[in-house]
Amino acid sequence: MKINTPLKFAILICLIISFFVILYSYLSTLFNPIIVGSALFIIYFSATYYLLKYQFYEKVKIIYKNIYKFKGTSNISDLNLENANIEAEQWADQKEEELIKMKENENYRREFIGNVSHELKTPIFNIQGYIQTLIDGGLQDENVNLKYLKRANLSVDRMINIVDDLEVISQLETDNEVLELDNFNIVDTINEAFDQLEMKANNMNISLKLTNESNSDMVHADRNKIQQVFMNLISNSIKYGKDNGVTNVRLFDMSDKMLIEVADDGIGIGEEALSRLFERFYRVDKNRSREIGGTGLGLAIVKHIIEAHQQTINVRSTVDVGSTFSFILEKGKN
Ligand code: ADP
Repeated sequence: MKINTPLKFAILICLIISFFVILYSYLSTLFNPIIVGSALFIIYFSATYYLLKYQFYEKVKIIYKNIYKFKGTSNISDLNLENANIEAEQWADQKEEELIKMKENENYRREFIGNVSHELKTPIFNIQGYIQTLIDGGLQDENVNLKYLKRANLSVDRMINIVDDLEVISQLETDNEVLELDNFNIVDTINEAFDQLEMKANNMNISLKLTNESNSDMVHADRNKIQQVFMNLISNSIKYGKDNGVTNVRLFDMSDKMLIEVADDGIGIGEEALSRLFERFYRVDKNRSREIGGTGLGLAIVKHIIEAHQQTINVRSTVDVGSTFSFILEKGKN
């Protein structure tokens, strides 16, 4: 039934009621059935029409117009009373969800801005301290001038790392689901990451190994983003590795998918930290991470990228034994 028809609705009800009244009057022969029927029809009609029009229709119409404004139509004549309840409930649920999401986003933004300024504050204050010391006479002191300039330079590097990672995160969030999917050779991608991190690994005497137990080298994914995942995971395996350790990237077969593991025999991660590892700016040991140039954003970036591929990133770790990060990708065509 269309809700734009209170007139029709009123006529229908009045006709039904009048019919029974006429029938009753005719049978009882107490009144002139035509007069009684007509009078009752007019009274019922006026009352029903007024009730429907002003107590119901006008109010529902306003609510409907509001709901439909968001659904891209305001054509009230298309609206169906039977669905009104369901549609109003759906609309309310949707609004509630939007509100919750907005509040979450607001909290997240507030927390994120707080974290970013906190992270940037430390290197900025360090740089300020070194420069002030140099201005106050340190520049002429050969024991400290070069040392302080090098330290200031390290703080600048840290700021650059933070800004670079923030840029990656913000880009990932802006073109959220936009992946440039392609078939590519994952062994080549891993070897490229090894090449770029070779010096870092040599400094720690860590050897980088690749074990391919899969029957294919090809995956279907976003090459640049997966390259970023390897850079972050392998560089972590070096940063939190042990002297003379080994980082092993292993590829396993999973029918039409490939399981990829980045395993190290480094310092490992305590069980209590595992669930928070992928949060932005979370570090198990803040000082150690900062000293070695960590931003606390590397694993958040990895999670983002793997989830954009509709997969999850997993971690197994034991303190002093090592950590293994793993994820799955679709196999690609040659
Ligand atoms: P960071 O820039 O601090 O390395 P990440 O987001 O990459 O930030 O990692 C978050 C934290 O997880 C690190 O600070 C470190 O405590 C821990 N972590 C990451 N990878 C490893 C690993 N392979 N072994 C041990 N700890 C790790």
